[in-house]
Amino acid sequence: MRMRKTAAAATVVLALTATATACGGKSGTAGDNAGEGYEGSYKVAKNVSFDSPTLKRAQKAGKIVVGVKADQPFLGYQDTSGNYSGFDIEIARMIAADLGFSEKQIKFDTVDSNVRETAISHHQVDYYVGTYTMNDERKKQVGFAGPYYTAGADLLVRKDEKDITGPGSLKGKKVCSITGSTPLAEIKKPQYGAETTELSKYSDCVKQLRDGTVDAVTTDDAILKGYAAKYQGQLKVVGKPFTKEPYGVGMDKDDKVLRGKITDALEKHIANGDYKAAYQATLGKSGSPYKAPKTPLPRY
Ligand code: GLU
Repeated sequence: MRMRKTAAAATVVLALTATATACGGKSGTAGDNAGEGYEGSYKVAKNVSFDSPTLKRAQKAGKIVVGVKADQPFLGYQDTSGNYSGFDIEIARMIAADLGFSEKQIKFDTVDSNVRETAISHHQVDYYVGTYTMNDERKKQVGFAGPYYTAGADLLVRKDEKDITGPGSLKGKKVCSITGSTPLAEIKKPQYGAETTELSKYSDCVKQLRDGTVDAVTTDDAILKGYAAKYQGQLKVVGKPFTKEPYGVGMDKDDKVLRGKITDALEKHIANGDYKAAYQATLGKSGSPYKAPKTPLPRY
């Protein structure tokens, strides 16, 4: 096991490991507090062939590279032995199976919010699944399939916080979010009067919230609920979402064939129950109730 820096973090790691072991690890059931241990099984398609430059490149390489997050409990989370798990990871695995790639041929790459467009457009990843809001600005640089889930920006505060009750109570408060994210752009608007801190990882913002450097962290409620569950008794989500964040799978803007195939894959796994099972074993565990995404998904 890789050594962690602080005693508090080490305690969490030990607790997670103990629970995962008790549940038998990767047995198809959710194992612990971070949504670790769930791995649905998805049938790998055979003889996949269509006119997508991304697919051809991946087939030639014998692997598919998927950009994901590593520090978002229940969504995209990398454990101490290097395994990725969470709802977005399951979405990524469903798509890879439909594109004909076995588990061993999937390479997850951690890509933070501020470098997503670069990683996609420079073909460092074949597609990206990581709480990635679809919007017109980003559509100028990347293509999207989805939305497969809709979150909303909210606030994470310390459990004993009394003053911060919603986005209207942030005047003069120190609020942390991450570079390149939509909630950061929102919270920087003068109407909120917040003092913003920009970092590159949500886990660093959460660290600053826990040690008292900042008063709140803002990003999608789905992400914040994961941290509140992970640090139960210490942190809480305010629960007043103030934006809409529709999540899409990001890919090369010009690969329209791939976009159609990934849209097919999402619709198929929503219809056959894989999506719901994965949701309930991962994100559903942090307190975001299941809601079926609207289908058919947009095609353009
Ligand atoms: N969904 C928001 C975004 O795409 C925030 C979460 C994130 O940074 O991934 O910017």
